[in-house]
Amino acid sequence: MTVELVSVGTEILMGNILNSNTQYLAEKCAMLGFNMYHQVTVGDNYGRMKEVVATAVNRADIVILTGGLGPTEDDLTKEVCAEVMGMELVEDPHTRQHIEEFFHNNIYREIPANNWKMTTVPRGARVLDNHNGMAPGLILEKDGKTAILLPGPPGELYPMFEQQVFPYLETRENASLVSKTLKICGHGESQVEDQLIDLIDGQTNPTLATYAKVGEVHLRITARADEPGKAAALVEPVAAEVKRRMGDAVYTEDEGEILEMAVVRLLTGHGLTISTAESCTGGMVSARLVNVPGASRVFMEGYVTYSNEAKMKLLGVREETLAAWGAVSAQTAGEMALGGAKAAGTDVCVSITGLAGPDGGTAEKPVGLVYMACALKGQVSLARYQFKGNRGKIREQSVMKALDLARR
Ligand code: ATP
Ligand code: MG
Repeated sequence: MTVELVSVGTEILMGNILNSNTQYLAEKCAMLGFNMYHQVTVGDNYGRMKEVVATAVNRADIVILTGGLGPTEDDLTKEVCAEVMGMELVEDPHTRQHIEEFFHNNIYREIPANNWKMTTVPRGARVLDNHNGMAPGLILEKDGKTAILLPGPPGELYPMFEQQVFPYLETRENASLVSKTLKICGHGESQVEDQLIDLIDGQTNPTLATYAKVGEVHLRITARADEPGKAAALVEPVAAEVKRRMGDAVYTEDEGEILEMAVVRLLTGHGLTISTAESCTGGMVSARLVNVPGASRVFMEGYVTYSNEAKMKLLGVREETLAAWGAVSAQTAGEMALGGAKAAGTDVCVSITGLAGPDGGTAEKPVGLVYMACALKGQVSLARYQFKGNRGKIREQSVMKALDLARR
């Protein structure tokens, strides 16, 4: 089953807006296991749009179009698709009622005449209610081909896709595709590939693909079969083998769980409390932890100790340590973590001290050098990283590594 995406709108061609709808839809289609060979953008021009839609309908099983469904003269998507698919436009009472209600519930008193053009739909089309705007979405099916027309504004498109289109697409032939994502922290993408190269290269069903993210790697295992249960049975043994090889570097196999959630889950499970002692990340680690609902069970206190004075005053880092080794050192990181745990009275404290740049690096301690420590009931584990990138990148990577250290 192949899908093609068509983005409609001159403003996309002109670079006035980023085509985020395509990225969103492409990711969802990949998740559904459809093959995608083309994504096309076309302006609000009848002739060119017709050419693009005809080509797409010809070479793909399903065409998903976004934009150009509104009430204005240049909104032509529905008209073009109806012509290409050979479907007649007819008045749809349900859509008319929706539009009347939309105006009634919004500030306008009179319904501008051009809005009535939105009340027609190609005969036999499935209408997708728009709960966040006016123009409905449409699913047209004819001669084994499908066109799905969706509104351009992401605030209308996303909920419509999630609630109505995704379930529809799942029922299509490809539904027997199952995938599982293992999220891996503590190894770079090439390291992950090295350890799994025989699995990645050797397999056609399931297939394995790695995706590099900031500070982590996602590994997606995807299998096809004639039934979902059979596909899952192909995925599971491979997932188990990956986990055996990667050990606790795999922090979750739950698509919806992000790293800080895993940290909170593990700490909660062990009945441990945590605090943070941050220098160059300025509270970003504590902010990430607090993002997680239920963090209050485990997260007690966060120290932002940017100056040496603060490190001494709040965390009890010794002046001699700072003088002998400097603020960016394993020794200081260790004392920060121990001092933080003591001051906050927590089981665990994770600390970070580093050079985020752009200035301040030396040959001995270049920009991007970051030390971190994790104190667990008086025992300290240390890590040293040399990150690349700008200040923001260095700080973001530091946060990921610190969260990873905290969960180990
Ligand atoms: P409306 O009813 O608002 O006219 P529409 O379905 O006709 O919606 P367009 O007029 O093509 O859609 O686009 C409306 C707005 O939606 C654009 O100005 C833009 O902000 C957003 N939009 C459209 N296409 C995309 C896209 N591919 N990616 C991101 N945003 C988009
Ligand atoms: Mg429009």
